Formats: sequence, C-alpha cells, structure tokens
Amino acid sequence: MGKPHVLAIPAPAQGHVLPMLEIMQRLVRHGFKVTLVNTEFTQERVINASAGKDNIIEDHIHLVSIPDGLEPWEDRNDMGKLTQANLRVMPLKLEELIQKINGSDNDKITCIIADEFLGWALEVAEKMQIKRAAFWPAAAATLAVGFRIPQLLDDGIIKNDGTPTSNQMIQLSPTMPAISTTHFLWACMGDLTTQEIIFEATVRNNKSVRMANWLICNSTYELEPAVFALFPNIMPIGPLLASNQLGNSAGYFWPEDSTCLEWLDQQSANSVIYAAFGSLTVFREIQFQELALGLELTNRPFLWVVRPDMADKNNDAYPEGFKERVATRGRLVGWAPQQKVLGHPSVACFLSHCGWNSTMEGLSNGIPFLCWPYLGDQFLNQSYICDVWKVGLGFNCNESGIIKKEEIKEKVEQLLSDKTIKARALDLKEVAAKSVKEGGCSHNNFNNFIKWLKA
Ligand code: UDP
Repeated sequence: MGKPHVLAIPAPAQGHVLPMLEIMQRLVRHGFKVTLVNTEFTQERVINASAGKDNIIEDHIHLVSIPDGLEPWEDRNDMGKLTQANLRVMPLKLEELIQKINGSDNDKITCIIADEFLGWALEVAEKMQIKRAAFWPAAAATLAVGFRIPQLLDDGIIKNDGTPTSNQMIQLSPTMPAISTTHFLWACMGDLTTQEIIFEATVRNNKSVRMANWLICNSTYELEPAVFALFPNIMPIGPLLASNQLGNSAGYFWPEDSTCLEWLDQQSANSVIYAAFGSLTVFREIQFQELALGLELTNRPFLWVVRPDMADKNNDAYPEGFKERVATRGRLVGWAPQQKVLGHPSVACFLSHCGWNSTMEGLSNGIPFLCWPYLGDQFLNQSYICDVWKVGLGFNCNESGIIKKEEIKEKVEQLLSDKTIKARALDLKEVAAKSVKEGGCSHNNFNNFIKWLKA
C-alpha cells in the first residue's frame, strides 16, 4: 500500500485557503501525500503573489486547479454569484479530477478534506466512497447558528428565505455571544439576492456535513465551551497558526511586504497600532479618509495594511498631505506577513475587521483589539472579543454611519490605558498556546484526526 493521500479543497477565499494550507503543511509533516485543489483563479493568484519567493507550498504539496464556473473577467467578490457558479461546475470537475488521479497515481486518494462551505465536495466524496472530513475555518458559534436554522424558522425568527422577521438579539446559550438577527452570516453578505443564495447554501451544507466522518474547526474548547457542549461533533484543532509549527504562512493572494518587520524592529516595544482589514473589506472613500485621519490623530506609530483594492473607486484615496505628514511614524503596506507582525513585540493593539483568522491570530499573541467588523461572521466575532472574552473595544458610528477620527483616537487611548483588557488578552494567549501543545485539547483532537486519516 502507498502513502495515505489527502485531497483538500478550500473555498476560494483568502481566509479559507490559508488555514486549509496550514492543516496541509501539518499533514505533510505527518507523512501524508497531499493534493490541494484550488480554483484556477485562486491558483493563479497564489502563484503570482509568491513569484520570486521560496515556494514553501509547491515543494511539498501537489497543487491542482479546476474552473470555478465564472468567466475570467467576472467579479469573484460577489459571493452569491461565485457560490452559484461553483455549484454548477465544480462537483463534476472534482469527480473527474479524482478519477484521473486514482487512475494514474499509485497513491490513490484515501480521504477528502473539504471546506464545510463546499458541502457539494462532501457529496462527491460520499458518491465515490472516499472517507471525508469537513473543515470549518470560522468560529464554531457561526456554524452553530447555521445548524439552528430549522429552529429559527420554527420560532418565526427568520422567513423561509433566511431574512430576519425583526431586528432582535438572540443567544443560543447563555454563555454564547448574543447576535443580532441582522448579523446572521447570510444576512449581512451583500444584496438580497446574495443573502438568499448564501442562506440556501447554508441549508444545503447543513445536510451535506452529515456525510462527513469528521467535522474539524479552527478554534479551541476553552474559547467557545458553550458551542462545543451543544455540538460535541465539532472538533476544534486550533488555533491553526504557522508559528505553532515554526513555519511560514503560505498561500497569500497578494505579494507580502515583509519590509514592515524591519520597520517594526525600529519601533519601541508595545507602541504600534496594527490596522488590517483582511482580504475583502472595501471602504467608502469618506470612511477611508476618516480612518487615515484617525490614525494620524492618535499621534502614535502605526502599520496600516491598505490592499490595492481597499478603497472604493479610488486607488489613491488618502487625504491630501496625509502620507507626508505621517511619513516618520506611519507605515503603509499592501499586504503584511500578519502572523509575524502580530507576534512582534512592538505591536500594541490590533485595529481589525474581526475576520476569524485575524481574531485567532491576535488572540494567540495576546494583542488587544479595536473591532471594526464589515460583513458576514465578523459581527459575531466582535461580540466574542468585546463581550465574552473582553479583550477589545468596538467603535461607535455617527448619525451618518461613519466612524469619525475623534472616535478612533479616543478608543485607541481607552484601549491602551486599560490594563485589565491587556491582562485578559495575555491570559487568553496562554489558553490558546496550551491547547495546541502536547496534552492540550486541540493537540489531542488533531492527533486523533491523524490516526483516523491513517487508519
Ligand atoms: N492577512 C495577511 N496579511 C495582511 C492581511 C491579512 O497575512 O496584510 C491574513 C491574516 O493573517 C489572516 C487572513 O489573511 O490569516 C485573513 O483572514 P480573516 O479570516 O481574518 O479575514 P478575511 O480575509 O476572510 O475577511
């Protein structure tokens, strides 16, 4: 018999590809053969972004790609359209790919690990009688809310298309974060059509995930105990960080600018505001400018990740003279090696959109948060940060829905002078580290998962 061969398929989004690759790198170290299936579009981005760098992926992981169902020019940030197109084309392409690999490779595919959001991939695995695991890259609480859709319908909290019947706060259990019905994952993902598509996909995925032999997620028992008590079939194996394995992150969609690490070396300990909003956030120009002015007003050093596509319409939306005025203490980069940045002693706080990966990364480094959620699960993650773990603060908008520069300055000052928040952040850093160490719960779950994969 050949090596155990895992085929993994992440959803085509940065926050899904990175943690899946982290799992894959671990599997390689455990002696697995690994094939990673990306969409053609994602594959090209990852390869272009890593051009000229040591390719830590391709040396160990077999990369293959299949079409995502959209034309090259179509907008892949339109989650609804992308989800529908994927469903139309990818199941058959995946099946053909597996047949081809199994027909020509001595190491036949022994297991498929699919993003939970791609439930159809689990259906393909079942049809082909290959054992299968689902991976959920966000908070277990977000998955739990999706699992509760039948009750939400029964209780009249949502309509058949997923839209909330009213704006109210709900809590699945007393120790879980409260969530506004308008902040259900599917209810804050673009326009109404998109919301409906994401809702339908969630309902379908709830069914497909039952076909999975394992359901793993990037979290820990200690951070979300109530959810794991309600859904003991969800197995946390996180936080999934490159640093847990002394490795580097791989799979960026944008070229990483690591010169900011040298800049951080020159700053005082615990002084820098790190501002980054993940891969999808797009600011209205007026808000972008207010954020820039807010960072300026803090009078503190800052490292701000401004993706080339981050400001609505305008590539150079900075307020006039901003770059010159902040040149000596502000560093702007297109894409940072975020995990390394958050582990740097100069970083004092993380102004974040609260994507789950960013949340896990900040938390694992004991960094307090300033929360600026934008879409999807980020609102629930903010509730965890501010209300449950109490390691961060949120912002208030003015009557026009804008977070003003004065508010930014005030919250930065408030956060950085709050010793209790910092102390709690450091406690949670220990909790997270313990979980992935020998004997920790996530470590044990991962080892059991490996045993099952090898069986
Ligand atoms: N990230 C990064 N450099 C950046 C910004 C983000 O490496 O400049 C990484 C970050 O470390 C995280 C991922 O991109 O692992 C973003 O995932 P997250 O779930 O936080 O947000 P999303 O992009 O899905 O909204």
